[in-house]
Amino acid sequence: MQGFERFGAYLLVLARMCLALLASRLMHHILYASPGPTRALSRRLRCSKHLQPFFCSLFDLLRAAGAMCFLIGATGPGVTKTGEALIGSTSDDPYLFRTFVHAALPSGDCLGHVGTELVYATDRSDLEPPFQVEPGEVGRGVNSAGLAFAIALAVERPKARTGVPEGRHEPVRFCDVSRRMMNECHTVDDALNLLQHIPAITPAFSVMLADAEGHLAQVEVGAYGTAVHERYSKENPGVAIAVNCYQSKELNGFNLPEAELHATQNNNGCRSSRGWDLVQEQMKQGKLLDVSTFRDILSDHEHRDRDPAENPLLKWWGYSICNHGTRKQDAYEADAAPWGTVSAEVLEPAKKLLHYNYGWACGEGAEFQDQLFQSHSWSHFASFRSPSAGEHTGRGGGRPVACTTVKGELLAEASQFLCTAF
Ligand SMILES: [Zn+2]
Repeated sequence: MQGFERFGAYLLVLARMCLALLASRLMHHILYASPGPTRALSRRLRCSKHLQPFFCSLFDLLRAAGAMCFLIGATGPGVTKTGEALIGSTSDDPYLFRTFVHAALPSGDCLGHVGTELVYATDRSDLEPPFQVEPGEVGRGVNSAGLAFAIALAVERPKARTGVPEGRHEPVRFCDVSRRMMNECHTVDDALNLLQHIPAITPAFSVMLADAEGHLAQVEVGAYGTAVHERYSKENPGVAIAVNCYQSKELNGFNLPEAELHATQNNNGCRSSRGWDLVQEQMKQGKLLDVSTFRDILSDHEHRDRDPAENPLLKWWGYSICNHGTRKQDAYEADAAPWGTVSAEVLEPAKKLLHYNYGWACGEGAEFQDQLFQSHSWSHFASFRSPSAGEHTGRGGGRPVACTTVKGELLAEASQFLCTAF
């Protein structure tokens, strides 16, 4: 009977994935072309000084840690090898923005966590960062209760600034929300409860949530409210994929046109459909998803040969899941920076682990000199555990402990959180 139920669950998941793939493919075939406005948008994105009001609102959208990403979540028997939930992610940024791993110790009523943080890796004053990040902000993380999350920016239409209606509040900064999620929430339900009680959040994100009990949710938050797009569990196994746009029926009308999933010129549709293809290939071969298969998906190079200069969402950002964006130039131009995958992660909430790969998960070195730091790419995951409840090291101040550097080096203090040989 157990075998029959497992086979039934497998068929159900396969049917769901086929439907999702079909929907994605159909959207690809819907004609969409507006090269004039999209090229104009790209020119605006390159301008980091003397910003016009419209440009400022677009840059507001990009003020995010680990901004442009591919996310995949999976859970349940017949889907993941252990039946537990997993989240995988690429972190795509300009190559001068780097992620590093930090571990935050429990303090007072706050849970501890291990996660990634983003930082502009230069001390040159003439290189102005294209967007701001909040020191200490977590882009991906898992806490000591086993709640994990990863985010992908949803490029929404700027909302008209008509003033704050009576009884409403200014949008809450996502960095404040993510801090509360890691400090206070134990489960996906806790995190959804937190997100759904905030009327507006900035910037907008697709948030992948998973917990130690095998719950998984893909929820979208932003200026227009919050919508739960997908929910899965051990009793209701499934896979979810997020890229840089809204997908829920409640919010997908608020995407910036250049970001829509069916806009064939951007990289959202092709990365999403490639992710679904890869999951389906694994399932057809009878393979269940685990950290290793997630690594294969995050290393995928389909569509790498498409020209990053043609991407209307962000010029010089590539089209493959493992993203090798470049201007094919010797110098890195901060005002027109190429974007690509600066790290890849897999979160395993049941074990409270963050598996982290600096640079490209494929392990390749830089092909062009504008792909700064990428020759330091690891060819493996290093696994870091979340600090446990009650764990202290005697360090004061409550500041997170940096475990890696912006160049991908391992720091001595990482040893207490590192679970694998490096
Ligand atoms: Zn690669």
